[in-house]
This record gives sequence, C-alpha cells and structure tokens, in this order.
Amino acid sequence: MRELIERDYRVVIRKCPPKVKAFVVKNRAEDYCTIVISSDLDERGRLEAYRHELSHIERNDFETGKNADKIERIAHGQ
Ligand SMILES: [Zn+2]
Repeated sequence: MRELIERDYRVVIRKCPPKVKAFVVKNRAEDYCTIVISSDLDERGRLEAYRHELSHIERNDFETGKNADKIERIAHGQ
C-alpha cells in the first residue's frame, strides 16, 4: 500500500446507520480526514473498511469532483 504523505487522518469507531460500513469526513480547510468505521462490524470487517476508506484518501477521491457512485466503482476495481 502506498504511504500516506503530507496527509493527516484519524480513525474513530462509531455507531453508523444499518448499511453504512464506513465513510470519511474531510476537513478541507485543514486537509485533515477522519475515517469513521461502524461499530457494528467485527474486527476483520473494521480492518477491511479501514483499508477501503484509506484507499479513497490515497486517491484523493474527495477532490476529484466525481460523483460518489463512480468513485465507488473505481475504488472497487469495477
Ligand atoms: Zn468506498
């Protein structure tokens, strides 16, 4: 996995809506991301969700202006 450079982030575990595994909240002003992972996931699921959201941060998906659907397809290699 490519290293994250010049980009700060943190991870929190929170109760999320039923179908939401994880998402990223970006503070654009500070270029700082928070990865929110659902507390409903088990250890393995949390790790997978964490890696997935990290890939979005690495790809700078939040700054591309693409719609979320397309980002998801790209992120999942479809
Ligand atoms: Zn995604």
